[in-house]
Amino acid sequence: MAKYKIEVDPELCIGDQACCADAPDTFEMSDDDIAVVKDPEGNAPDEILNAAQNCPTDAIILHDEESGEKVWPEE
Ligand code: SF4
Repeated sequence: MAKYKIEVDPELCIGDQACCADAPDTFEMSDDDIAVVKDPEGNAPDEILNAAQNCPTDAIILHDEESGEKVWPEE
């Protein structure tokens, strides 16, 4: 099971592709330049967390799959 449930808020994504650089096997860009999840287990959990933390607009939302708790962005 993937560690994180990953969502990208398309309203917040500015298409700078930072997440695709940090976790290239997890995120990819859609045709309209919005990041999408291609494989929630594509990269190690710490790489996915790092990508979410580096997103300039906090468009990547992570929940722990097991507990359901929100991991990122911090409240
Ligand atoms: S890092 Fe954030 S703003 Fe940049 S492409 Fe990924 S989701 Fe979009």
